[in-house]
Amino acid sequence: MKIVYIVHAVDTEGPLYESLSAKFKRIKDLYGIDVKKRNYTEFKKLLKKKIIHNNKKINISDIFSSHLNKYNENWSQINEMIDEMMTDQFRNKYKDSFNDCYKFTWHCLDHVGFINNPRKRTLGFHKIYDFYKKKITNNKKYGDSIEWHFHPMSTFKDANFCATSYFRDPIIYEILCRKILDRNFFPSSYRAGFQAERPDSNWFLEQWIPFDITNMSIKNKTHWEKFRDFKNGRSGNWRNAPSNWEIYNPDIRDYQKKGECKRYIGRALNILNRIATITQKEVDNAFKRTDKLKKPVLMGVSSHDWRDIRTEVDFVYKLVKSASKKFKNVKFKFLSVQEAFQKTIFNNKVKKKLKIKIIKSFKGNKDHPNLIIKTSGCEIFGPQPFLAIKTKNNQYIHDNFDFIKKNTWGYAFHENTLSLDKVKEIAIATNDQFGFTYIKKIYL
Ligand SMILES: [Zn+2]
Repeated sequence: MKIVYIVHAVDTEGPLYESLSAKFKRIKDLYGIDVKKRNYTEFKKLLKKKIIHNNKKINISDIFSSHLNKYNENWSQINEMIDEMMTDQFRNKYKDSFNDCYKFTWHCLDHVGFINNPRKRTLGFHKIYDFYKKKITNNKKYGDSIEWHFHPMSTFKDANFCATSYFRDPIIYEILCRKILDRNFFPSSYRAGFQAERPDSNWFLEQWIPFDITNMSIKNKTHWEKFRDFKNGRSGNWRNAPSNWEIYNPDIRDYQKKGECKRYIGRALNILNRIATITQKEVDNAFKRTDKLKKPVLMGVSSHDWRDIRTEVDFVYKLVKSASKKFKNVKFKFLSVQEAFQKTIFNNKVKKKLKIKIIKSFKGNKDHPNLIIKTSGCEIFGPQPFLAIKTKNNQYIHDNFDFIKKNTWGYAFHENTLSLDKVKEIAIATNDQFGFTYIKKIYL
């Protein structure tokens, strides 16, 4: 089938404030220009390319175009934007070949454990998730969905920085435990913070999350060298990953290479951005690819909710309509990230059919209290389900199952794990081999 499945994945982080001194700091970090007089007059001069540095007129419009410089700095600005986006008037302006409306997948972030917060990010578990969950639940007809985004803890716990090492802080497990136990949510797809992955995140995702829409590779390999924050493999480094809109299974040792992992990586380009930005040529390439292969193609675009997403949708839709005129026999459809991966990979032939049987043996003197999980119907995605435990003193703990035999895992409560009398709640979460998500609470 000649069809482009279009997904709009939003790194959903709540408001972001940028003071004037933070703007000058960013100019210094990105271009190495240390402006001495840091006031609005100087900033406006910079915007008009009136500052000469090393005999060159400085062009900072890459990072400070009116679109890129206009942030949603508080929740009322985000609320106003989202309320407009959750109307028939907005959604029906952007219809696909099936007369269906535009869709978003909100990859929600929890900022937790940060100490320094100069850009006034919203801190706390579920704060961002709850805001979007309510908006989406109240507007179900548009078909938006929620997924997961994560920023690894920065070295000195600054909320405005994003590291790449996932396990210098165990918060990643607590965030997922709380999502499962408190919100009955577990992700099927992922967007990496700063689009940065490394071997540790590759291996973490391979255990539980089947779909990853973080690849932003582009053909022009010199692109990355223009920016101090991306050159030489810094930050979101996808320079060696496929740049032709294919979905690939990464190599276990190198997330940018095709390999034997079970997880799937799709590509999403930024919109109106200095880095890996979507262009008419890229959209045409997605249409050209499905036309040539006669198979569905997943085309992703990505945003942040602290920017004006309305402007970005308008821009993307024009590119899509223009490509659609050039490739008249190719259709395009707006989907959630989960559904787009499923339809592209499995060609419409999947159903939710995993059965999970929980055998709990919490009483009796012959053995430690223990859990046995058996699945049937199809395979689970990863090597084991995700186990989430809440203790009576409100700690959230993730721990390991291990294999008993094929599709059967066990976990015991004893002095090397934790005793059952300390436990308040238990739940397990898993995706199946087709990327459907299942959560089961286990009652004590
Ligand atoms: Zn982010």
